Amino acid sequence: QSIEPDAWKTSVCRYCGTGCGVLVGVKDNKVIAVKGDPDNRSSRGLNCIKGYYLGKILFGKDRLTKPLIREDNSKKGTMDGFREASWDEALDLVASKIKEYRAEGPNKIAFWGSGQQTVHEGYTSVKLWKAGLESNCIDPNARLCMASAVVGFMTTFNSDEPMGCYDDLDLADTFVTWGANMAEMHPVLYSRLTARKLSGTNVKHYDLTTYHTRTSETADSVMVFRPQTDLAIANCIANYLIQTDSYDKEFVADHCQFFGGTENLGHTWDDNYDASEIGQKVMGHAEISFEEYKERVSEYTFEYVSELSGVPAAALEELAKEFADPNRKVMSTWTMGVNQHTRGTWMNNLIYSVHLLAGKISQPGCGPFSLTGQPSACGTAREVGVFSHRLPADLVVNNPEHRRFSELIWNLPEGYLDSIETPGFHTIKMFRELGNGNVKFLWSMSNNWGQTLPNTKRYHNHEGIAPNGQGIMDGFIVVSEVYPTRSTEMANVVFPAAMWVEREGMFGNAERRNAIFEKCQEPPGEAKWDIWAMVQVAKRALDGKKIGDHDAFDVIFGKYGPDIWDYAKNDLIDEHEVCVRLWNEYRMFTAPHLHENPAVQELGSKLKTRAKELAPYDEYLKQHGIRWPVREVNGKWLETKWRYANGKQEDGYDEIGVELMGDGKKKNKDLDFYKSWADHKARIYFRPFEEAAEVPDAEYPLWLCTGRVLEHWHSGSMTRRVPELHRAVPEALCEIHPDDAAAIGIKDHDYIFVESRRGRTKVKATTIGRGKPPKGLVYVPFFAEETMINDATHDVHCPLSKEPDYKKCAVKVYKA
Ligand code: SF4
Repeated sequence: QSIEPDAWKTSVCRYCGTGCGVLVGVKDNKVIAVKGDPDNRSSRGLNCIKGYYLGKILFGKDRLTKPLIREDNSKKGTMDGFREASWDEALDLVASKIKEYRAEGPNKIAFWGSGQQTVHEGYTSVKLWKAGLESNCIDPNARLCMASAVVGFMTTFNSDEPMGCYDDLDLADTFVTWGANMAEMHPVLYSRLTARKLSGTNVKHYDLTTYHTRTSETADSVMVFRPQTDLAIANCIANYLIQTDSYDKEFVADHCQFFGGTENLGHTWDDNYDASEIGQKVMGHAEISFEEYKERVSEYTFEYVSELSGVPAAALEELAKEFADPNRKVMSTWTMGVNQHTRGTWMNNLIYSVHLLAGKISQPGCGPFSLTGQPSACGTAREVGVFSHRLPADLVVNNPEHRRFSELIWNLPEGYLDSIETPGFHTIKMFRELGNGNVKFLWSMSNNWGQTLPNTKRYHNHEGIAPNGQGIMDGFIVVSEVYPTRSTEMANVVFPAAMWVEREGMFGNAERRNAIFEKCQEPPGEAKWDIWAMVQVAKRALDGKKIGDHDAFDVIFGKYGPDIWDYAKNDLIDEHEVCVRLWNEYRMFTAPHLHENPAVQELGSKLKTRAKELAPYDEYLKQHGIRWPVREVNGKWLETKWRYANGKQEDGYDEIGVELMGDGKKKNKDLDFYKSWADHKARIYFRPFEEAAEVPDAEYPLWLCTGRVLEHWHSGSMTRRVPELHRAVPEALCEIHPDDAAAIGIKDHDYIFVESRRGRTKVKATTIGRGKPPKGLVYVPFFAEETMINDATHDVHCPLSKEPDYKKCAVKVYKA
């Protein structure tokens, strides 16, 4: 007998950056079903297997339902040694620790956010930490997945603005996947790519990868390259375009400028490593001529790059010809293979460089498209500024005008934010300093760092014994979580959190679409919305602090600010109204022309913050998501498909680029990189090939690559509690080439050790998995907490983006 829901509520999937629409069936105020939302234009009714079982993540038997306070520090590293506490006691304790350690300095207290926080939650974290506590020691887990993409955008276009959209998947003639196993990581977008391939004529897919994946299975050309040589492959395409004179000369003259640096940077990752100086070098600030650029890329011939990468020269040439052909629309997609890379920023620069040279950018079906990992890596972490150097809407802390603009919107006295002009610790540094005892307090939210940081042996002993009372175990750690994880094991206080549709929220996906999910049921036990916990902590931690003539709390969250506090009840106002009011305040960063203060209008116009203009909050529910920037035309709120492109994009929507933001000039291909410095030109960088930080040798002869599988989300803390997904992939396996397996005398499903210079893990091996690694490379997913592959990974990172490289380090394997 089927049970019908009382109502279907509008929602969004809480896993990957595709941001699929989901309808949630609710009966008697309880979630009983989910299905794809046909009105969400990002996914058109489709979900992947994780999405179809989404509702079940709410009902795991071991949900955290009570605040926990650790009584026994010697049991850190396990879930023993806690006692249940009241919220008041836990909040008082956390606030008192914040006050105690903040008094020692702004970088003593750290907040680690997430691309899985909602827009509102991220915005609240930024306001609390940066405006309330005057600390920039706040960073998101997006540092581990999207930071290279952000710095790639910033260095190329001077703006963190994805220019393309999913419509490109329906229109391209050629797809190039650069380090992206879309079939498992972005399955709904991959199905759109394959639909185009099957329905179009002569549609081609080139898969650049370090091992044969599910995505490779449908590609026309699978180009398995030696790890790190993607740098050389991109240069080789650029060289071909120039040598054959097939680059788009008019486009390049109108829209591009050449930049480069030739320094060999090397790699360093010791505890005292400060990447800022090396980061300046790697920027390649020097402008170079076209002739200099031509000279520098000229060494990247097909023969040389083939030898370096292992990809046949003929295959490289075939790919280069796709970029050279003016009649082919080329779409590049990439994700962690490019971003989690010691030259992640460079690789992002290089993909843009190839598209800029070919003049294939920001046109329907044509362009580079950076896929995001998490549901709101764009909407939350990047756009509201949950980074140690950012403020909302692309603003940065070390720019005085940006601070001034933020002060105006946040009703802070002029000069107040000068106290945060220096960026705080990025993620890797933050955790190392926590380990060193220099950061004394950490609050983490919507992430599981105990399992997902690289080189976790630095922080965690997985045999359940506290590592000598040293390092990270000494810091006071607060973890807001829904289930026990490797991170809650490290906590002093655990806040039980409401998850997914147990509260209202909004995510912003990879194609700039913000979409709301409605609240569908109450959280279990005493679990609470993270915003509630943050504001309650703020009320206590800011007690006694004044901003100008007012109490600080009243300015940050109360009556002189967004007014989300009910003074009579001494609690938050209604949840939906909290979302509306926080949105209205945040929206002013992107819509300064609507602000009543002329100073906001004037400065916002100068800073071009309308480039990310957002609509009124309820429009996002009505339309099942909208892509920014929006524009009101005849009372309708309309969205933007292609950034930087001028002209009509859909009915009733005209002149979105130049007229709205730029200088009014029309240029070749009707594009305007209006934020790209004074000349409106994007930068084509020369970025040389440099070897990986750690290369296999006699002692550690294999490459290790890590990542996800289709059925599990990140550390598996949610999807492993869904019986169907757990049954489908119950354990992590090490995929290994048959020759490498034979060399150590193992057969399928034998246990092996995978060991690096940092740590090792025991895992079953398989030669018949989905992935088919080449000889000399093994792949291990990171979803299984009993298979802590991050004990072996390396925390060396890109000196510009500070994003670590999870995709390549040296290991040995042997029979367990
Ligand atoms: Fe869509 Fe990604 Fe969720 Fe799958 S995991 S339903 S592809 S958003």
